[in-house]
Amino acid sequence: LARPLTGRVAVVTGASSGIGEATAQVLAAQGARVALLARRGERLAGHAARIEEAGGTALALPTDVTDPASLASAAAEVRSRLGRVDLVVNNAGLALPDLLDGSTGPNWQRMIDVNVTGAFAVVEAFVPDLLAAAAERGHADLVNISSAAAQSVLPGFAGYAATKAAFSHLSRNLRARLSPADVRVTNIEPGTIDTELRDHIEDPAISAAVQEAVGSIDGIPSGTDVAELIAFTVGRPRHVNLSHISVLPTREA
Ligand code: NDP
Repeated sequence: LARPLTGRVAVVTGASSGIGEATAQVLAAQGARVALLARRGERLAGHAARIEEAGGTALALPTDVTDPASLASAAAEVRSRLGRVDLVVNNAGLALPDLLDGSTGPNWQRMIDVNVTGAFAVVEAFVPDLLAAAAERGHADLVNISSAAAQSVLPGFAGYAATKAAFSHLSRNLRARLSPADVRVTNIEPGTIDTELRDHIEDPAISAAVQEAVGSIDGIPSGTDVAELIAFTVGRPRHVNLSHISVLPTREA
């Protein structure tokens, strides 16, 4: 079996479910040593155990990306137990509705905290590793999981769309900073993917409307479909940077 990512050290945020869980599994199956970060430690431990049972190397690190101390201790732990990081999948995120009339509470603030402040903090925590790794081994990778919402109007989800627009724009600007040093930045904007993302919507009417819209799409990619795309991207030769990728259900309008 080909293991093209052998020797690489990867960090995946939001690895307790969905795209992040699948990405940790696929990167490990291709030979990377993987650190799984998210808040739900029990889930992470289960995923890490399955990776190890399959012959891979995985480290479960309960982490809240909105808590600087938690992130700093996770970064230190990865370095001491797996080595310098050369691949970061910056994936943790929340998609909650915000009607901006007071009825959806502080959802927009929670999304700014996770999707913007948290995502920026992950970049800051690992850029020194990525720069050092690129200098030593030729290249390193930062993969940001933004959203198709960054480019579109999503009724009821203005705050989410705005946080993802900020994230996609960060990717563009980071590329200018990092690509001269051979750190490749990839921004991925998925459309609807079959994960738990929408299960966190508390408002029953909004949840039902979203589930109905999703249910009307004939054929939805899985977290593994996105994970395989990520593995392909980071496996390109060092002079090739897939800088911006949209991945959509074939039948999503
Ligand atoms: P999931 O809800 O399955 O995964 C989200 C992950 O983020 C979980 O592992 C969750 O773990 C983690 N997370 C949330 N808050 C924090 C936090 N404060 N600190 C650390 N981890 C956190 O959904 P997806 O897999 O779909 O989402 C992954 C990314 O993909 C998100 O950024 C999302 O916006 C993006 N995306 C998803 C699409 C979809 O249709 N599914 C479409 C476009 C983009 P825990 O709760 O354990 O902390």
